[in-house]
Amino acid sequence: MGKERIYNFSAGPSMLPLEVLEQAAGELTNYGGSGMSVMEMSHRSKVFQQIFDEVQADFRRLMGVPDSHKILFLQGGASLQFAMIPMNLIGKTGKADYAVTGNFSNLAMKEAKKFGDIHTAASSEDRNHTYIPRQEALSIREDAAYFYYCDNNTIFGTEWDYVPETGGVPLVCDMSSNILSKPVDVSKYGILYAGAQKNMAPAGLTVVVIDEKLAGNEPESTPTMLNYRTMIEKDSMYNTPPCYNIYMLGLVLKWVERQGGIAGMQAISLEKSGLLYDYLAESDRFALCAEQAVRSRMNVTFKTGDADMDARFAKEAEAAGFTNLKGHRSVGGMRASIYNAMPMEGVKALVAFMKKFETENR
Ligand code: PMP
Repeated sequence: MGKERIYNFSAGPSMLPLEVLEQAAGELTNYGGSGMSVMEMSHRSKVFQQIFDEVQADFRRLMGVPDSHKILFLQGGASLQFAMIPMNLIGKTGKADYAVTGNFSNLAMKEAKKFGDIHTAASSEDRNHTYIPRQEALSIREDAAYFYYCDNNTIFGTEWDYVPETGGVPLVCDMSSNILSKPVDVSKYGILYAGAQKNMAPAGLTVVVIDEKLAGNEPESTPTMLNYRTMIEKDSMYNTPPCYNIYMLGLVLKWVERQGGIAGMQAISLEKSGLLYDYLAESDRFALCAEQAVRSRMNVTFKTGDADMDARFAKEAEAAGFTNLKGHRSVGGMRASIYNAMPMEGVKALVAFMKKFETENR
C-alpha cells in the first residue's frame, strides 16, 4: 500500500467520501452480482438503467427538483454549458444578462457574446471579486432571455448570500462548486447546473437541471449533441452517457442522505468553514480575502501578505499532509477548498497546523 490518505484541499477534482470510494472498490469488478463492472456495462442494459433511474430519482428527491424540471447527465464539463446555455436560450429575444463575480462567470459571459447581445448586469471586478453585488446593483433588462450568475466563486472564495430577483427573467446558475451543500428552491431556476468534480463525482459528468419550457429556442444549426431538446427527449441517452460517473454520483447521493441530506450538508459546511473563518478572523499572521457576508463555505481564501511566507506555508503544509493549499494566481495567498467530502477532522487538523505555523512565524 502507498501512503495513508491525506487531506486534499484541492479546488477540484477534490476529495470523495472514503466510504464511497471503498464501496466503489468493493463493487469494482462485479456490480450487484451482474458479473461485470459498471464500467463494462451497456448503457442500454437493464442493470444500468436501474442505476440510472435511481440516481435521477435520488437527485430529484434530495434537491427537491419539481416535475417541471428535467435532470440531465451531460459531458463536456461545466465549461460546455457556457456555450450550450446561450445557444439554446438566447434565441427567444437575442439578449442575455450576466453578473460577473469571478473567473468562471466572466468566461461564461465571453462565450455568450458569440451568440447575441450580452449585457453586464453587475460586476465585482473593481475590487478583485472580493464581494457580491447587492440586489439593488443588478441591472437586468426586462427582455433578457435569461439572467446568469455563478453561485459560488471557486477562485475568489465568495458565495452569493441571496437568490437574485429578476422580475420574471429566467434565472440561470452555475453551482459547480457548491451544489448539494445547501437547500435550493429549484423552482426559481430556469437552469441550474454543475460540473461533478467537486461535490458530486469524478470529472466527466455535468448535471443540468432545466425547466423544460426553456428548451426549444435554439437555431436550426444547433448540433444535436449541444441541443437540450435532444437530451431531454432521449433522457440523456442520445449517445453513451458517462456511465461510471453517474454510478459514482449515485453512491455520493446515498452518502449525502446518510449525512442528513442537503440540510445536513449545509450544517456541516457551516461548522467546517466556521472553524477556519473564526480562527482566521483572530489570527495576526493570516488575513482573509473575501468580504465577511459573502465568504464561501466551500473555498476559503486567505494570505499572509508576504508572497515568500505564503509559499513557505503551502510547502510546509504539504509536508505535513495538507495538500493543494496554494491559492489561484489571480488571488495569490492560499485557498482551502473544503467541499462536502472534506472531513471535519481535516479542517480541525489544518487549523491546528496553522496555529503552530503562526506561533513559529510571528
Ligand atoms: N464553474 C465553476 C464555478 C468552477 O469552479 C469550474 C471549475 N473549477 C468551472 C465552472 C469549469 O468547470 P469544468 O472544468 O468542468 O469545465
